[in-house]
Amino acid sequence: MNASKVFTGSVVSFGLVAAKALVVKSLELKISKESIAPSQVSTEVARLESAISSSVLELQEVRSHANAKMGAESAAIFEAHLLMLNDPELFEKTKEVIATQLVNTEFAFHQVSEEFIALFSSMDDEYMRERALDVRDISRRVLRHLLGVQEANLAHLPEEVILVAYDLTPSQTAVMDKNKVVGMVTEVGGKTSHTAIMANSLGIAALVGVNKITAEIQSGDQLAINGETGELYLHPDPEQLSDLMKRKDAYLQKRKILESLKGVPSTTPDGQQVHLLANIASDEELKFVLASDAEGIGLFRTEFLYMNRTSLPSEEEQFLVYRKVLQEMQGRPVTIRTIDIGGDKEIDYLNLPKELNPFLGVRAIRLCFKRPELFKTQLRALLRASVYGHLKIMFPMISSLEELLAAKAVVDEVKNALQSEGIPFAPNLPLGIMIEVPSAAIISDVLAQHVDFFSIGTNDLIQYTLAVDRLNQELQSLYSPFNLACLRLIELTIKNGKQHGIEVGMCGSVAGSEEMIPLLLGMGLDEFSMSARQILPARKVVTSTTKAFALEIAAKVLSMHSGQEIENYLRANSSLKMS
Ligand code: PEP
Ligand code: MG
Repeated sequence: MNASKVFTGSVVSFGLVAAKALVVKSLELKISKESIAPSQVSTEVARLESAISSSVLELQEVRSHANAKMGAESAAIFEAHLLMLNDPELFEKTKEVIATQLVNTEFAFHQVSEEFIALFSSMDDEYMRERALDVRDISRRVLRHLLGVQEANLAHLPEEVILVAYDLTPSQTAVMDKNKVVGMVTEVGGKTSHTAIMANSLGIAALVGVNKITAEIQSGDQLAINGETGELYLHPDPEQLSDLMKRKDAYLQKRKILESLKGVPSTTPDGQQVHLLANIASDEELKFVLASDAEGIGLFRTEFLYMNRTSLPSEEEQFLVYRKVLQEMQGRPVTIRTIDIGGDKEIDYLNLPKELNPFLGVRAIRLCFKRPELFKTQLRALLRASVYGHLKIMFPMISSLEELLAAKAVVDEVKNALQSEGIPFAPNLPLGIMIEVPSAAIISDVLAQHVDFFSIGTNDLIQYTLAVDRLNQELQSLYSPFNLACLRLIELTIKNGKQHGIEVGMCGSVAGSEEMIPLLLGMGLDEFSMSARQILPARKVVTSTTKAFALEIAAKVLSMHSGQEIENYLRANSSLKMS
């Protein structure tokens, strides 16, 4: 029997689970140049042939799977890849490089495919430019076969697993088999990385900042995650497993008690009503939202619709998703945020230039202004869907009045176009903005005069106010919602919003934090949007905190200077409430 070992990390999504490990290796394909003797040319060419035929077989399988699961349109991408792989030019050119330069197959194939990628990328036609990504895809596939690197297929898993990785990208998390992944453990990442956020929404246990796990854990090893202590057990012993089971039973008991809060209004004992809504990143999460008794959707992160594909989603495709979400929410408010691509959310096929500081770069609304066709397509889909429910549209990363006015002008332009085509849309569609850049919070009195609502995005507001990268595990102690500067900006935003008669909500992770809710209630927040499983615990806090006490808490906290003092006070207060 293997010796048991304990690692620790930070809990970013609660869960008490045991399953086998699936180690996801980062797929850095290292291509080295090696000289070969003329007598080795035929062996290298044979390796090329074999790697291409293995890739063809693999692609045929992926194509039929895609066809069965997602329909012919999705499968067409793989059809195109097969055609490219079978194109004799790629093969002949590589063969020529091997024979004339006397180099190994990996190097030759990489060189030839990079030439094709450069050629496609430089074309004027957008469709042809996008083909560069297809070449990159097939090139990686063939190189994997040449190098003997196995890629974990996260979309189809035969059994329950805990994913173990140095890091997981939002697009890997988006595509993984959500019924089979019960836990995720990474060496890096922060509480508000999108991978952590997604794990939370899906109820998957997740730990970050667990050192050296990819070196110490093998796929197939038995693991267990203790989401209460932040411990990861490798080859857990019977005692550890029985402790985990006991904790799980206690947790399930607590959840049962919370179930009695379903259908209860989110009102304080002295009559102040607020609204508790859910955040989603895809329509797959609707079932959790409906089961959670959320009063609506406070944030739909639409950028995930654009991931794990090789071209932009069409207007029709988007329209169908937005309509489905609105219909399933049956008249409850649904705030859909226009795309927030950039930062840690990369989309390969947009071929955007690499940036030194992507979180301070062409992100979100800034990208929409640079690619207006992309923005307009999304707005058309949203406006068309607006007649099927209670839609609210929200712009991310607004940092000035000019940006807001420019975004609204595009909405007007799209509305005019729809009107002239006789396509209906909701007449009084509310438009709002995220307050997640400090400049927006500071001028929230001005911005409030031009929108119907604010939603405070604390995940970014904290990182931009404190100059602390939200993904950097090393700096997590500095990334604090209790910092007085962040709290002052939140308070200012709420105050300015209310003074101008608009609703103020919050959809950053702070909104679901049990210790922060009384403070936010006291500051006058109207709407709290969080992951679905936080709704009932949040309702427990709201229904057991009087507005009068919340006001006292807010006054006291805002008079304190130290973040640590604020944190201690709110924590102590919260444990008193919950006991
Ligand atoms: C935020 O910044 O708080 C937010 C909700 O947006 P995201 O986490 O998607 O950046
Ligand atoms: Mg944000």
